[in-house]
Amino acid sequence: MKVSLASAMGTCFGVQDAINLAMSPEFNNELTIVGQLVHNPQVSDSLKQNGVSLVPGIEDIDKIKTKKVMITAHGAAEKTKQQLHDAGFIVFDASCPLVMRVHQTIKSLVSKGYFPVVIGQKDHVEVKGIVGDLDDHLVINSEEDFSKIEKSGNRKLGIVTQTTQQRDKVEALVEKIRALDYVDEVSFVNTICQPTHDRQVAVHELADQVDLMIVIGGYNSSNTKKLVHVCGEKGIEAHHIESFDQLDKNWFVSKQHVGITAGTSTPENVINEVHTKILEIAEEIEGQVSLTS
Ligand code: SF4
Repeated sequence: MKVSLASAMGTCFGVQDAINLAMSPEFNNELTIVGQLVHNPQVSDSLKQNGVSLVPGIEDIDKIKTKKVMITAHGAAEKTKQQLHDAGFIVFDASCPLVMRVHQTIKSLVSKGYFPVVIGQKDHVEVKGIVGDLDDHLVINSEEDFSKIEKSGNRKLGIVTQTTQQRDKVEALVEKIRALDYVDEVSFVNTICQPTHDRQVAVHELADQVDLMIVIGGYNSSNTKKLVHVCGEKGIEAHHIESFDQLDKNWFVSKQHVGITAGTSTPENVINEVHTKILEIAEEIEGQVSLTS
């Protein structure tokens, strides 16, 4: 059984920079992260072990016990940051620059007279941050949401995407929006981030070669779920796991070529553990095959 790693996978620079900042010794157990820094349980655990406190979001401001707080890599609305400043906190901003680019892009579209539309998941923290400073907006995730556009009565749309969206899905949705008879004009800026794009391209390439894909990442990680989705579209068996101990030997029986990929918040050590365990399983299965043949 051959085992291959995707050519691009795992922690992106935005997530890594945010983790490095949160782990910085200068905080000395005096930091609270507002919102999940990354969608990865192992990273969240290791932050807690380093004395970093976590609260789910700005609505938990009353539970913050430290003077210093950090905004996550997913970004936050300016008004959220202001609320923290006004409450007397020292705010450290770990927003990824590629998320901030989306904030700037949508504000620029609004200033040019376009009604703001985000393609993404309306409850995702990144999307909440993108739209948090806007007077009005729409979030679209599928064709079923097109009725929202019609109801809004807005005919000139400025569209951006959540950074972790799938390019094919986004492009297809934008084309369909352009064709709606109740839409006059669309200005679309593709704001999918490069690391996400690279991981999607890599999983496509690897999925063409393997008969099983192991996808590593937090169960609530949007970009990890999309990697699984790509495999499903290609008809490849894929299993989404968070750590090596979730691997099931039965998945590998009779498989010729196994691929490994990981979302943008999966640390290298977690990938290495999974890789090592799969190599062990492969050796075990091959040993059993040679004994019975
Ligand atoms: S996934 Fe993209 S936008 Fe999000 S933190 Fe990583 S590089 Fe930044």
